Amino acid sequence: MNKHAGKELPYVPDWRADETLYSWAAGYHAIHGNGSARDTGALLFDSEHACRDRDATRNLIHFAKTTQFALGSVQWILFNRTAIGSFTPFLAESRKQKLYEQLECCTGPGWRQLCGMPASGLHDSSSMHYCDVCVAEDLANWGLPRWRLPHQLPGSWVCLEHGLTLLTFRSHVSHWVLPPIDRSATRSSVITCDERVALERIASLALQLVGTESLDVDAIRQALLVGLRDRGITSWRYPLNNAQLSSWFSGSAVSGWLRRSDGPWQRLADGGWIHDLLRNRVGDHPLKWMVLWCTLFADEEGTACHQRFINPVAAPHWDASGQATIWGATPPSIPADIHDVIANASTLKEAAQALGVSVSTLRQRLTELGTNPRSFRQDAGFEQRKRKAISAIRSFIEAHPSCSRAEIHRKCKAAVEWMRLNAPEAYTEAVESLDDLRSRQMPLPTYH
Ligand SMILES: [Zn+2]
Repeated sequence: MNKHAGKELPYVPDWRADETLYSWAAGYHAIHGNGSARDTGALLFDSEHACRDRDATRNLIHFAKTTQFALGSVQWILFNRTAIGSFTPFLAESRKQKLYEQLECCTGPGWRQLCGMPASGLHDSSSMHYCDVCVAEDLANWGLPRWRLPHQLPGSWVCLEHGLTLLTFRSHVSHWVLPPIDRSATRSSVITCDERVALERIASLALQLVGTESLDVDAIRQALLVGLRDRGITSWRYPLNNAQLSSWFSGSAVSGWLRRSDGPWQRLADGGWIHDLLRNRVGDHPLKWMVLWCTLFADEEGTACHQRFINPVAAPHWDASGQATIWGATPPSIPADIHDVIANASTLKEAAQALGVSVSTLRQRLTELGTNPRSFRQDAGFEQRKRKAISAIRSFIEAHPSCSRAEIHRKCKAAVEWMRLNAPEAYTEAVESLDDLRSRQMPLPTYH
């Protein structure tokens, strides 16, 4: 039994604005005289080595009890005060369940492992990031610098307040550390205006994802496929051409910056990962989705672009003629000429011959674009299918009144998919009974 077990802190300092859990603990350690790092770790987390877990400390239940839950519940702290909060929205339901089951356990795998992060190779758990202008402001306001959560998220390479690239702190010492106050730190690379704009877009998406509910990764993938085609980056016949995808991405501002950057993400610069990301049915590192989304849709207005990532179906994209479409300029997501060839052919085989591709290729590409080859060819019974889709979703909502939109997307997948492609307006009608005021996001508290 640890000598600190069951001990509650007599005074629990509040969070300093948007600081991370690690920052709070390092600040606590500093305020209490920078004594033994081990003692602080044992007191707060029942682990003498807690200071080594810089992104998300384990044994949060001990911390929550020691701080008398004054800083939030275990789940709230993990999701809103550590970088884990930007991974959880991408987790498949089964993995998320595992994470929930482990929340209040003091043993078992670490958070990073539960989120499948170690395998990615994109995560550098020994480094932390800061902006020196923020540090100077913190010193003036609090007398102590803090590690800001927005700066520790994957995809966060610039300070959104000062437009400066973040500085990296790397150290393997077993100690509680706060951002260095030394103003002589130099940035490793000069940043162009285009690069800054592109990086700010990614950083603000990363921040917005913290604390959001599950994302519909399938819908994100579909939207990307159509976006690539609408912008002429890939053709309809070859939706996933590695050379085309890589050469497009290599020419982007983000790629230019990644190439000169110093971190495991440098290897994303050549765009060679995009092909696999879009082809694989399994999840991948959140950073890849965010970088690809923000680069591809850089021409869209920022807020709408982020909103579409978080909730693709509920945030339709308005085309130039004022028609709301979900996936792009040509619903269903197939060019009109090719649409006609398929609709007029008596069999899929005949259509494939006319298009000069094999039947299996055609079927696969229709599926990749989110279209069921068979239903695509039946245009009769549209209204009937629409009513059926609406009523499937309504019955689900009736049976599960507290359900989220993400749950509807998962449990009524067929109906949602069909609407997405054929009748986007029917979705609004189907979910109108959901309480729109219900908060789907738990933003960080702001202090002014
Ligand atoms: Zn700053």
